[in-house]
Amino acid sequence: MRYYVNKNAQSNGDHEVHRSTCSWLPNADNRIYLGEFATSQEALREARKYYTQVDGCMYCCPEIHKH
Ligand SMILES: [Zn+2]
Repeated sequence: MRYYVNKNAQSNGDHEVHRSTCSWLPNADNRIYLGEFATSQEALREARKYYTQVDGCMYCCPEIHKH
């Protein structure tokens, strides 16, 4: 599964991680490609290299959605 992180933070400061298939995937200009991972947890770890405050999208990555 391919994962992306949103360059634009949510109102609470979180940068959301999405799967490539998500309906809420940000536009190409507003996302960073993280890579292919077997689990959302691995994608979250990769996203932390870009942003300190990251969270999973509640629709495509509910298992890592906290906020
Ligand atoms: Zn999503």
